[in-house]
Parts: sequence; structure tokens; C-alpha cells
Amino acid sequence: MDLPRPSVPFRLTTGAAAPPFAPPMRAITPPAQPFPASARATAAAAPTTPPAPPAPLGGDGIPLHPTPEAAHAAMAALREEFIRSMPRVAPGAVAGMTESDLARLFGMYDRQAFAGRLTRRLAERGAAVPAFRFSRRLTSAAGRTIRRDCRAPAADRGNDGAPPRPREHWTIEISVPLLLGAFDAPATDVRVGGLVCRDLLDVLLRVFEHELVHLLEMAHRDATDCGGPDFHFLASRIVGHVSHFHGLPTARDRVHARLGLSVGDEVAFPFRDGRLVGRIASIRRRATVVVERACPDGGPPHATKFGVPIELLERVDGAQGA
Ligand SMILES: [Zn+2]
Repeated sequence: MDLPRPSVPFRLTTGAAAPPFAPPMRAITPPAQPFPASARATAAAAPTTPPAPPAPLGGDGIPLHPTPEAAHAAMAALREEFIRSMPRVAPGAVAGMTESDLARLFGMYDRQAFAGRLTRRLAERGAAVPAFRFSRRLTSAAGRTIRRDCRAPAADRGNDGAPPRPREHWTIEISVPLLLGAFDAPATDVRVGGLVCRDLLDVLLRVFEHELVHLLEMAHRDATDCGGPDFHFLASRIVGHVSHFHGLPTARDRVHARLGLSVGDEVAFPFRDGRLVGRIASIRRRATVVVERACPDGGPPHATKFGVPIELLERVDGAQGA
């Protein structure tokens, strides 16, 4: 996990000018998505009444802890064992961790928290053990669990010529920007899954645990919803989570805190030998800035999108900012 390199703006697309830009509405309740980002909603997300047990996932039962606190204590013991197994990485740190460390972590969780149900269920589906990635592309979700279906080769067809069963490939991704930036706003507790994180390893483990519950649901039901009561019950009694939100600063949060800039604000940035002015359309690893320019032949104006490194953005008077 090395740090991103600054680079120059590049043009993304050119097309007809869009209608006048309006900042997007922000949903009070985020839609169901992998680990929705809401730095402000963490405290409010804890339920007031214990959720009812979900319908059985099938097969033998998963060992459930009697309370979220008991589950969290078991995860704390797993954390200590993981630290001991990784002497080259400082306790509580993540720098130097590799994706094979995530695979080993998966094995520990599967054995100790899920009683082997994850690998067993994936094997029943004909899927291998998931792949694990540290992802730079996740800039608002802290983690993501993905299933990809690939058509099996013709050699795998049965004698009856039936269509081959799709081969499944599962991947669990952890967001590098959100993980490494977790403590960029030290004035507030860093919470993931409703639990206070002491260090980056805690952040990683809580995100990882959340994704494993997604994997458990998806592998058994082909559906998962971390905003739903079933997910909440499993997450609370297996890994001790009391919320499905994270309070990690996103790229948008960091740009707003550092530069006072938000989506919809007017900004300038250097491009080639000049300087362009446009409006921020999105903020991820880079800001996407839409620049409208008159057509030289007198036609309608054209809008061009540029991917601009955050450090090159300059406020333009009138930006609404902080
Ligand atoms: Zn989720």
C-alpha cells in the first residue's frame, strides 16, 4: 500500500453542454449499497430494539454469541492472534500488510467466527476461496464484496450437453483511501460498524468483518442488505457490530475539510499553458470538473470533463465551500 502519485489533469470526455449544473440531493437514509458512507449517521444508526433472528441460512447453524459485546470480545481475541501471527507488521498497523495477509485473516475468521461456513458454502456453489484486494478505486464505500459469474469452458459440459454451471469468482475489496485516511479527522471517534476503532488495524478488521457477513448472506441467499434486520442480527451476534455505517472520511469529506470545496463549486486548475475554470461534478481519487467552452464555429457550447488531481484545484470566488 504505497501512496498515490500526483499527476496532471487529463481530459475525460467531450460532448454537448449539459444543462445548468445543480448540486445533487443527498439522501437522509442512504440507499442499500456496500457499506454506505455516512460520517454523521453512525451514532444514530444503533437500533433501539434487538432485531429478530433471521430465517435460517440453511444447513447447520452458525454459532451465535449471546450478545454483541460477547461477539466483539471474541473478535478482540482474534485480533491479538492475528497480530502475533504477523511479526513483521507493527501491532495495530496496516502498512506492510499484503493481500495474502487478508487471505490468512479470512481463514482465521472463517474457522473461528463462522465455523467454516464461508468456505463450505462457497465450495458447495463451486466457487473457490475469495480473492482479496486493497483497492484505490473505492472512495466512499469502505469495502465491497463482489461475485462475478464466468461461463465454464466447454470441457466442463455434462454428457447431456446441458449448459455449464457458471463459475463464480468472489472478491472482497478494502478501500485503501478510506483505510489510510481513517484518522485524518482526529477530533471525533473513528467508528466502523458502530464500534470505536483504536487504530488502523481495528478499522481494517471491522470493515473486513462487515464484508464477511455480506459474503455469508450472498452465498446462502444470493442477496444481501446491510440495512436490513437479518444482516443486522447476524452482524451483531457473529462479529459484534451494532451499525452498518462507517464514519471514515471520504474523498469528498477531505476535500471539503481541506479546501472548502464541494460538488457543484466553481474551481480553476492549470491545464497545459493556461488555466481552465469549471464546476466540480464529482470527487473521488480526482475531481471531475466540467468545463463549458464556446464552440469556435458558433455552434452550441461544449462541455468537457477533466480529471483533476485534488491538489491542483483552486477556489474561484463564489464557491460555496465551508
Ligand atoms: Zn454493507
